Amino acid sequence: MTFLAVIALHASAAQAGLPAIHLSQSEFAAQYGTIRAMEEAKETPEAPGLRKAVEDLAALQHRFPSRIKTRAGQLVEAEKDGRARVDGLYWRTLDALTFSAESAEGLNRIPDIMPKVGGELDASDAFGTIRKALDESKDEFASKLWPSERSAAQSCIDSFDEIPPAKRDAAIRFILQTAGIKKQPNSIEMLIVPRMAGPEGMTVRTMTGPLVIIGAGKYRGSDFDEVVLHEATHVFDTVAGTESLFGELRAAAQAANRSAFDVEEVPHTAMFLLAAEAIRLFVDPKHKDVGETFGIYARGLDRLCRVERPILKDLESHRIGADEAVKRIIDRRSPQFIESEAYASASSAPRRAFFIYGLSSRAGTGGWHRGATRSAT
Ligand SMILES: [Zn+2]
Repeated sequence: MTFLAVIALHASAAQAGLPAIHLSQSEFAAQYGTIRAMEEAKETPEAPGLRKAVEDLAALQHRFPSRIKTRAGQLVEAEKDGRARVDGLYWRTLDALTFSAESAEGLNRIPDIMPKVGGELDASDAFGTIRKALDESKDEFASKLWPSERSAAQSCIDSFDEIPPAKRDAAIRFILQTAGIKKQPNSIEMLIVPRMAGPEGMTVRTMTGPLVIIGAGKYRGSDFDEVVLHEATHVFDTVAGTESLFGELRAAAQAANRSAFDVEEVPHTAMFLLAAEAIRLFVDPKHKDVGETFGIYARGLDRLCRVERPILKDLESHRIGADEAVKRIIDRRSPQFIESEAYASASSAPRRAFFIYGLSSRAGTGGWHRGATRSAT
């Protein structure tokens, strides 16, 4: 709620100009992202302080309770939903809170505000451990990793900042106009970290307003530019509330009783497609969707892409209006349609048909991030 209130103060009418996107780095966020990524990848760094930090984080994971309550109030249990799901949710929550603290000292405040993470995990233990891991790896990170990591992330930031302003504005305007977004933020703050565990982006709440964290990771050049626009689009979606193509798709999917996967991923796929198209139209005509290049679409979104791509093209070129686009997308996602297509391909590839059908009820496989400030980022 605080997040939305903060956003409302910064929101302005579309006529007031396009939102500026500010990219920056922080050594604290880079260090935390790196030790978490090392722990997730089961790396054993040679430097003793870094190794100790990774071991401490792994030991913390072993102390995670067997269930977690999500912000939406849903109880997720290891026995029913799988240990990996519970651990993933704990880490995502801890990551978001750590990034939002903005410094190692800032972590000390969290247990006072939130004594239990996810309703079960002792926050003093969790953030005490994270603080310890940061302290014991600080000097080695600063001397051995940060210089090269910082310049790698900086080259990503530079390549985005070097897009001529007119082209960048055109790309942002294309997304805002196609998605029918009128209420928008004045600016979007993004912190670029060299490495990050879990999905490669999240939006967190800080003392000074919302902050997008992006793990530069493997993304370079126009791929990185698309990731920045995609994350910015999540902020546009949040600020616009229900008054956007994404909000309307979400509402229409809900009204049609579609699966939780559809309610989340039908609008999310539109975000992927629009960000990629914006890069192609205004930055690099040879650009290929990040979702294709890095296999994100293949994790359950390619069917949605096939449905949405031609309809969005018609919307972009004003051949149809937003209402018609929403109607067509939801109609093409009807259970009857999915079933008939699955049956049609069942004769040649029955296993695949089953797989496609099964995916429609599996939430959260397609995105590269989940936010800490929203239920579906
Ligand atoms: Zn996303």
